[in-house]
Amino acid sequence: MVNGLLVGTGWYGLRRRRVLDAVVLFAVRRDWPDWHTHEFVSPRLTEQAAEAAAAADFAYWRRSPLRPRVSVVRLSANDFRIHRRRRDCRAPDCPVESSARAAAGALR
Ligand SMILES: [Zn+2]
Repeated sequence: MVNGLLVGTGWYGLRRRRVLDAVVLFAVRRDWPDWHTHEFVSPRLTEQAAEAAAAADFAYWRRSPLRPRVSVVRLSANDFRIHRRRRDCRAPDCPVESSARAAAGALR
């Protein structure tokens, strides 16, 4: 069994790097208002890189009739990996955005 998680690094996160489960990551959280579900995508090593991924995600969904709320969360590689297997997660105790920048409304 291979441990860890592949994380995007470099320009637009296109390069992949394997990190150990205990490593703290920043990922994009999509909240789907219509279904009250959420998912975590685009794991990154830095908050900055995750913010960039969130901005790209926001731009991608902007013209869609179904628009998720996009934010950046902090979680371990292990938590990300486990969460990826959940479909349509509605758990209230999953990581939510913590960054001061997000609170300032940089991302919606
Ligand atoms: Zn969840």
